Amino acid sequence: MVNLLILGGTGEAADLARQATTRPGLKVTTSLAGETRDPAPLEGTVRSGGFGGADGMADYLRQSGIDLVVDATHPFAAVISENVAEACSAVGVALVHLVRPPWVRQDGDTWIEVDDLGQAAAEVVGRRVFLTIGRVELGRFAGMEDTWFLVRVIDPPAQPPPLVNHRIIEGRPPFTIDGERALMSEHKIDVVVSKNSGGGATYAKIAAARALGLPVVMVRRPPPPDGPVVGSVEETLAWLADHQD
Ligand code: NAP
Repeated sequence: MVNLLILGGTGEAADLARQATTRPGLKVTTSLAGETRDPAPLEGTVRSGGFGGADGMADYLRQSGIDLVVDATHPFAAVISENVAEACSAVGVALVHLVRPPWVRQDGDTWIEVDDLGQAAAEVVGRRVFLTIGRVELGRFAGMEDTWFLVRVIDPPAQPPPLVNHRIIEGRPPFTIDGERALMSEHKIDVVVSKNSGGGATYAKIAAARALGLPVVMVRRPPPPDGPVVGSVEETLAWLADHQD
């Protein structure tokens, strides 16, 4: 048996786990950060919670006899991607990063590209903003008295967010273009803030903004992780087949 560890928290990770568990000779474990209260069910074994940095992950890899690792975390989850590279190199375990391609601006898109959420906040002062960045980093938009936010999260924040004017809604991808258009129209949204996450599950807001003629403040990705990178679940399965023997 070959022990595969998938670092998850994305749709691609779930899809990979589903397909990899059907491969003979692979034992599949997915690791989740433990942030989402009620994560979607996953095929194979699931572990949850941080490892305690790169050293903690190296210990886990040794103790669990992991042979192969796929980092299928979100493109903006830069810390874990760096830690796993360090841990795999220390233990001598083969690693590939599964990084879905970023969205690319289409005809009709009005994108304001920024490097981080601080810059995004500066771009939306005084507007009605659809904020789709999760619940953890809402503090970057704190204290903006003249700005209104529609905040969509998977789980509601434990504490009220530090936003002056806002409404929180819960929603779990995938979303539809019609649904996103209706939501933005209902709340008189005039700008969308999004990370350039890529993938299909959350693209509908970008297509809906285009259809409504609304600008999108698009946060560029952090630098890609060091080491081998593949762009799809199919490519990851091919990588696994090459490394399974
Ligand atoms: P991060 O900044 O790269 O990582 C922060 C810490 O969380 C890591 O040092 C690690 O703790 C722990 N961690 C992250 N992913 C983990 C995993 N799959 N298994 C076990 N521990 C994990 O990550 P993040 O941006 O907070 O994202 C957390 C999770 O949410 C990731 O799994 C990611 O795929 C998912 N996610 C993130 C975003 C986003 O915009 N950042 C969006 C959607 C989903 P230790 O150092 O203790 O090991």
